[in-house]
Amino acid sequence: MGGGRTGRAERLADALLAVLFAPCCAACRAPLDHPARGCVCGACWQSILPLTPPLCDLCGDPLPGMALGRCPRCRRSPQAVDRARAIGPYEGTLRDVIHALKYDARRSLARPLARLLRERGADVLAGADAVIPVPLHSSRRRERGFNQAADIARHIAAGGATSDLTDYRLPIVHALRRVRATAPQAGLSAGRRHSNVRDAFAVTAACQGARGRIVVLVDDVSTTGATLDVCARTLKAAGVAEVRALTAARVVTSPR
Ligand SMILES: [Zn+2]
Ligand SMILES: [Zn+2]
Repeated sequence: MGGGRTGRAERLADALLAVLFAPCCAACRAPLDHPARGCVCGACWQSILPLTPPLCDLCGDPLPGMALGRCPRCRRSPQAVDRARAIGPYEGTLRDVIHALKYDARRSLARPLARLLRERGADVLAGADAVIPVPLHSSRRRERGFNQAADIARHIAAGGATSDLTDYRLPIVHALRRVRATAPQAGLSAGRRHSNVRDAFAVTAACQGARGRIVVLVDDVSTTGATLDVCARTLKAAGVAEVRALTAARVVTSPR
């Protein structure tokens, strides 16, 4: 029953279906060659470059020239976060990936983002005792259905293969809650961001377990660092010894 014609028809149908339904990369929109490997293509992941060293010891911003130590802003006003690192600057593909996770609910992206953070933020995780996601206010969480920071934090905490084979399996502690709904930081001037999030966070009962410990705050984007700073102050006021931070991306402020 060979059915050469049927065979050709089937191949044509396969090809048509592939063209019609081929999922596109959530970042660059090109058809995915390997949809089973995730919703962002390999070329996009490879295009996400780290921040260019040397980096500020504290906030992780690139330093001008060959300077070492702290950036002008951290020298001027010390932050409560002891050390912060990110996958890269909040632009291009990394920004598209974070938007796909956050606004298109492509939650599967939290895992590869966490993997990159474990690699590029290995020194932040070294010696840490727990991972703490920056919480959303309950109303925002209900609206979105999930907290992207908690998704990333869960995969960071779970450990797994990293290039340096170091296993940083850590407990995830929901030590913070948002007690006040705040306007999105994105729409505010740098000056207003701190007042927007001041007193917006409180510790939960779970924070007890983090007293005297080194913890790593996890969020999707750090813009001015105001949210991380307020979270760190809240945790330290409750007895946490050291607060570090990992964010998928950070907005790089031009050094002044
Ligand atoms: Zn792509
Ligand atoms: Zn700095």
